[in-house]
Amino acid sequence: MRFPTKDANRHLAAISLDLDNKWSYLKVRGTPGWEKFPTYLDIFIPQVLEELKNLGLSITFFIVGQDAVLEQNREALQLLTKTGHEVGNHSFHHEPWFHLYSREQIKEEIQRAHDLILENTWKAPIGFRGPGYSWNQDLIEILAGNGYLYDASSLPTYLGPLARIYYFWTSRLSKAEREKRSELFGGFKEGLRPVKPYFWHLPSERFLLEIPVTSTPFFKIPFHMSYLIYLASYSESLMFNYLRFAVALCKIRGFGPSFLLHPLDFLDADLVPDLAFFPAMTMSRDKKIRLFRGVINILSRHFQLVDLRTLAQNILESHRKKSRSFS
Ligand SMILES: [Zn+2]
Repeated sequence: MRFPTKDANRHLAAISLDLDNKWSYLKVRGTPGWEKFPTYLDIFIPQVLEELKNLGLSITFFIVGQDAVLEQNREALQLLTKTGHEVGNHSFHHEPWFHLYSREQIKEEIQRAHDLILENTWKAPIGFRGPGYSWNQDLIEILAGNGYLYDASSLPTYLGPLARIYYFWTSRLSKAEREKRSELFGGFKEGLRPVKPYFWHLPSERFLLEIPVTSTPFFKIPFHMSYLIYLASYSESLMFNYLRFAVALCKIRGFGPSFLLHPLDFLDADLVPDLAFFPAMTMSRDKKIRLFRGVINILSRHFQLVDLRTLAQNILESHRKKSRSFS
């Protein structure tokens, strides 16, 4: 199945996938054994690349530095750039309380992951996404200072606190661990942030493009793949109607979404039994892949689907044209 990809009249929409590994889910939940960094990347990456190839899609994969250290993951990570996908930086430790780090710690996280991604995939990342959508002002300045073109960490939604309650409810954490995770997924004020891409203009005269993970314009409800699959566990037609509604709102606002994927959108409890606690893991991976194809079919009818680098360069180019015509 191949979808049309070139049409000058359609907005660009970006597809990206956060390569959150098995150990990172176990770690956030406080499950022992994560310290050995159990992985599924060697199984998952070849599988998802095959699916993307059949759909004719090039996307952005955000890599966690810790995974690039392990020999077992290397071949799979190299496949990403060999097959023409973009690689982005997803921090070294993938700790969702990243926004609580000191400036020095943030610098270290970014540089260490950057070097490992470059060494293992032979491509230097120009984009960053914070673990668990966490970000702060120091992060933006460090990225701009390191020559990054865009940050993709923000997820403007009012539902962050509800996601956090769900996590606490399903995990076994001590009081100290809960405190560390107290701002997981952001507060209600995250919902006030813009849905459309925008520029950070920094005191250092530098700038950085912010490409938020798109939530529905006006309502700020997520529609990334995991959320859609969660809806589909109740009703597939509800899921597809909600997606069409979100697409229509993006078109009214005059932009293409940044659409987010995760490995668990393609895996099931059969393949990864230790993550059976996660929402929608009882849904079969065959069904998940069928839903994914349906979602891509709808998105590609309305937008030209690209990786985040292409979207970022396109936004930058049209911004330059506009400022030239005003000068
Ligand atoms: Zn992540």
